[in-house]
Amino acid sequence: MTASVPDAQVLHVLKSVWGYEQFRGVQQDIVRAVVGGENALVLMPTGGGKSLCYQVPSLLRKGVGVVVSPLIALMKDQVDALRENGVRAAYLNSSLSPDAAREVEAALLSGELDLLYAAPERLLTPRTLDLLARSEVALFAIDEAHCVSQWGHDFRPEYQGLGVLAERFPDLPRLALTATADERTRADIIRVLSLEDAHLFVSSFDRPNIQYRIQQKGAGKAGPKSELLDFIRAEHPGEAGIVYCLSRRSVEETAQWLSAQGVAALPYHAGLSPRERNSAQERFLQEEGLIVVATVAFGMGIDKSNVRFVAHLDLPKSLEGYYQETGRAGRDGLPSTAWMTYGLADVVNVRRMLAQSEAPEHVKRVEAGKLDSLLAYCETASCRRQVLLGYFGETLPEPCGNCDTCLNPPQTFDATRPAQMALSAAIRTGNRFGAAHLTDVLLGNATERVRGLGHHQLPTFGVGKMLPDRAWRNIMRQLVALGYLTTDAAGHGSLIASAKAGPLLKGEETLWLREDVLTPPSSKKARRS
Ligand code: ADP
Ligand code: ZN
Repeated sequence: MTASVPDAQVLHVLKSVWGYEQFRGVQQDIVRAVVGGENALVLMPTGGGKSLCYQVPSLLRKGVGVVVSPLIALMKDQVDALRENGVRAAYLNSSLSPDAAREVEAALLSGELDLLYAAPERLLTPRTLDLLARSEVALFAIDEAHCVSQWGHDFRPEYQGLGVLAERFPDLPRLALTATADERTRADIIRVLSLEDAHLFVSSFDRPNIQYRIQQKGAGKAGPKSELLDFIRAEHPGEAGIVYCLSRRSVEETAQWLSAQGVAALPYHAGLSPRERNSAQERFLQEEGLIVVATVAFGMGIDKSNVRFVAHLDLPKSLEGYYQETGRAGRDGLPSTAWMTYGLADVVNVRRMLAQSEAPEHVKRVEAGKLDSLLAYCETASCRRQVLLGYFGETLPEPCGNCDTCLNPPQTFDATRPAQMALSAAIRTGNRFGAAHLTDVLLGNATERVRGLGHHQLPTFGVGKMLPDRAWRNIMRQLVALGYLTTDAAGHGSLIASAKAGPLLKGEETLWLREDVLTPPSSKKARRS
């Protein structure tokens, strides 16, 4: 049954099983290609509607559609939802008892299934592959296909074994789906899954209903947690949201603190028991207006449509990670906010982690490039959406009007002189000190430490008196973000003038930086647009 199926029949399935009147965007083209037996690579943002791209063809082709997914925790929900729509669906993963698994296998062999979800490690056992060879299979869908890529934020070694599908079942269509769109990941998917001949379907990655905002730490006086609280109270009171933190400890602290302030919040991280994690996930899905404070362990595949905001209290790992995490907001298409707060310490921190990384040189180079892109996004004075989509190879012709830099354009200033001062302060003190000490030297604060080190006798001592403390932090943060200053591998937080600083110090280069945005955009203005 590789012949084409009339559109009317395809739409009939969509309507009768899911109750939808029409396809969205490229869904129909994808369905057509796969029903016709072709391979496809689908790059679509979260919430774009990837599931239908393999579910509908699975019903239209003879045999069972086999869906590979790493999200064991969600398989049961997906299968239950399909069954409610009358689809004969089942799953195979480590959570099933041997008896239940045998039942599923029997149903598979006797052709009683439309869709079978399987975890990759289960699918790749000789036993399951044998069973599939003896069954009628309609297609293979590899969901979250970016998991094959070591470059990605979500590498799963089992995914690399999926190359075997092309060898064992060369005549069956393979459909790889992901919301990660960068070139390198795409190339890895094609290579590992042998999709050289696949149709490529790329949807726009723009999520126009998400408002992107980044606020400098300290803008809210009382620390990042209270900045977060102000944001929630002003813009999303009583609404569901996800707050990402880097460490388990800050997850715990933030959740506790929010709860103490009367904002219902649950912690979620890999250090909790599976039961605690499941319960947090269940409650988040079912209750209204709950906030989950989490490490990145939370969220892949979370299908809650009315998450109104995603907040980052720490920098994400990369722009891919940021895009995925913020993409969990507003799947229902209603206005939502991606909010982040960050500061000098975060920048120094991520630069230091990179310097300390023991990865091979070529890997470090890629990571450094990714970090530069992330920091450039944070520090940009132009439309954030343009920068973000540009990173994924997409051009947005006009500024979006729905990000902080569009709503509240930051001023830039010629920072050549102060940047030279900060760089010489680092050099004159031997590239051994952190931002606080350098600021003391620049401001002419003759602290005990400054005097003890004789730094009050340096020519740079006090040259920066015309700017306040905050301005120096702002300048140094941007110098670190832009790579004029780097950090030491030992982790002391020392700021070191890099080779890139040479031309700037010699006056061969002018440097424009953004002014510190001290007041966040007014919430009303931000919400209405
Ligand atoms: P993804 O896997 O790309 O994140 P999903 O497949 O979970 O997205 O779909 C996101 C939401 O959009 C779901 O609630 C789904 O039911 C809905 N949806 C997808 N396609 C359509 C369509 N053609 N018409 C109406 N709703 C759709
Ligand atoms: Zn914009």
